[in-house]
Amino acid sequence: MTVRRATVVAAICMTVLAVALRLGTPGAGAAPVACDGMPTPDGRIFPEPLTSLTYLTFAEFECGIALVEEAFPDLLEVTTIGTSFGGHPVYDVVMTAESIGGDKPELLVMSSIHGDEIGAREGAARIIEEMADPDLLGGEDWVQRVLDEFRIHFTFPNPDGWVNGEILTSDGASVMYTRENDPEDPLDPTEPFGQDLNRNFPVKGYFAYQDPDYFQPEGDAMAALFEAHDDWHLGTDNHGQANDEYLAAGLQIVGEFDYQKSEDLARFADGISAGMGEYVSTQLFAQLEQEAGEYAGAYHWGTLYDILGYSASGSGIDYYNTPGVINGSGFATELTVGKQAGTNQFTHNPVLNQIWVDSIRAINYTMFQQAIDPQEHVFETGGDVAYLFDPERIRHDDANGVGNDIGDPGQFGQAPYDVSRMTFFEDLDDHADRPVTAVRIGEVVGGAVDLDRFDTLVLANDAMPEAVDDEAAWWGLLADWVAGGGNLLLTDAALQVLPNLVDGIVADDIQVTEAYVGSVEAFTDREHPLNTGLRGVASQTFDTVPIGYAFGGSNNSAPNWEVDQAAWEAAGGYTAGTHSGGFTIHGELTVGDGRIGILGALLPDPTEEFYHPFGLQNYAVTYTGYTLLQNHLQWDNPSQIAAPAPGGEDDEQPAPVADEGSGLPATGGGLAAVGSVVALAAARRRRR
Ligand SMILES: [Zn+2]
Repeated sequence: MTVRRATVVAAICMTVLAVALRLGTPGAGAAPVACDGMPTPDGRIFPEPLTSLTYLTFAEFECGIALVEEAFPDLLEVTTIGTSFGGHPVYDVVMTAESIGGDKPELLVMSSIHGDEIGAREGAARIIEEMADPDLLGGEDWVQRVLDEFRIHFTFPNPDGWVNGEILTSDGASVMYTRENDPEDPLDPTEPFGQDLNRNFPVKGYFAYQDPDYFQPEGDAMAALFEAHDDWHLGTDNHGQANDEYLAAGLQIVGEFDYQKSEDLARFADGISAGMGEYVSTQLFAQLEQEAGEYAGAYHWGTLYDILGYSASGSGIDYYNTPGVINGSGFATELTVGKQAGTNQFTHNPVLNQIWVDSIRAINYTMFQQAIDPQEHVFETGGDVAYLFDPERIRHDDANGVGNDIGDPGQFGQAPYDVSRMTFFEDLDDHADRPVTAVRIGEVVGGAVDLDRFDTLVLANDAMPEAVDDEAAWWGLLADWVAGGGNLLLTDAALQVLPNLVDGIVADDIQVTEAYVGSVEAFTDREHPLNTGLRGVASQTFDTVPIGYAFGGSNNSAPNWEVDQAAWEAAGGYTAGTHSGGFTIHGELTVGDGRIGILGALLPDPTEEFYHPFGLQNYAVTYTGYTLLQNHLQWDNPSQIAAPAPGGEDDEQPAPVADEGSGLPATGGGLAAVGSVVALAAARRRRR
């Protein structure tokens, strides 16, 4: 792959050169846009790249977009949301059918927040025009529905990088500064670069305060736009990457996404794959292949880590997704060979630019079409599932405070938080086909809850979250239940109790690897039922930033729990996936009529160990994490007994609540609420 990438880069450089030579040197005023009364070759205000001589300059964009607004005043409004560091307007072009008033949900398109990643803004300019113009797409039913029902914000967050890339037209511009915004002083060696505008949003979770990029005027303007509306739906943040074996890549953002949101975003990704076939012509594809080398396909997707091998804190689309703050459902994309240091008449590659623009059509139009066709996603549990409830909550004002002595290096203060991995199951219960039921260890050991009511019991991260008088009785009870046909799933740190349950596995066989993210690095057999349904570039199972884990080099802190593969298999276990070589992180072991499953990276506790000024999220399970969990839950306990007789419990009411004596909060409320319900439950148990 490395070799092929190098070849692609070289070929593209040669292509750019060839195109430049072919075109010669256009006159300095050879604008591609219909300004100054100049007609364009195809009659559009923003002509198609194949008929354009150059990339769009910022001034041409401003002129062209004003013309579109003038032509279709009832469909778009060109607004500014702030001023860049270098003094340029930050545009938000708002599109909606203004004749239909009232509150409308918002959709977001962020284009080229990195100034040198120009394909996104090239595409957005064309899209705005053609959705407005009835002679182009404006007459299509779906376009009218989108504009009737939604308000679309086309934002252009990095005008400085845009202008600085125009090396022939911009005063003092330089290829040095095209990614970021303006430096303080281009000639000052102590500040040689501007700031990366995609690292300075107040994202809930780990925040890399040593990063000097936070709180730039452009990011503040975008954050203020997000905060100004309370009904954000889908959003996309379109970038360009150096090169890839696909024309475009989707980056699945991860955070505290319930199943519905996770699947909405996966559906978006799958839809883009289909859309690429619709909007990118095979002829262009073939032409690019001829010029640039082989491509593996049109589109692929995964998490940032899956696709790019890295992550970042403080990104704009992460902030857009933040639950309880902005609540958008956002996605990021990368266009191939999409970073261009200096963009002008000499570097214009019409084929490449057309592919970018058509890829952006596939991406943005897929999003708009899915916005008007919402779907409900149901998590199929495959059985009756219980999880062991942990009443402990992690708060900014609990006994250990914020949990570290880092202080407030970023000077952001400290947002309050009150989190628990239990929220994952409460959210899952809302989207599952059957109840996902919380049980407490005391109820099980005390006999108030018979585990044989369930097919599966999940011990997530902690196999004994509350103390019991007789530990051995707990392990014995679990072992008997599994032998009788139960399916016991251990996740994360709960793998440490394997020696209590499985003969032949000892404490030394279990290890934790602190890695960049939580992941299954290698799947053994993708046909195996534990690996069925994997999508995208599947590897990452949980993310770090939302739940507070630092990453990168010696900062890697994401816990991946695993068991020595030889010991696991000698004990009869099956390895479905590994993290470190020679260690099983994902697998199953048959015990009697039952099964013990392990998934060592799914649902760790949020951590307070690192700087988290904007608070913490409850969980950060990826789409792959959901898939693997779902596979582990497919089980039928042959010894299952019916739930207690009607009258005691309502099947429609998934979470067992206090009136059943379970002592569980119906909604995961604050600590005080949990405490009072717990006290009530304890009192009830004593009365029995
Ligand atoms: Zn980028």
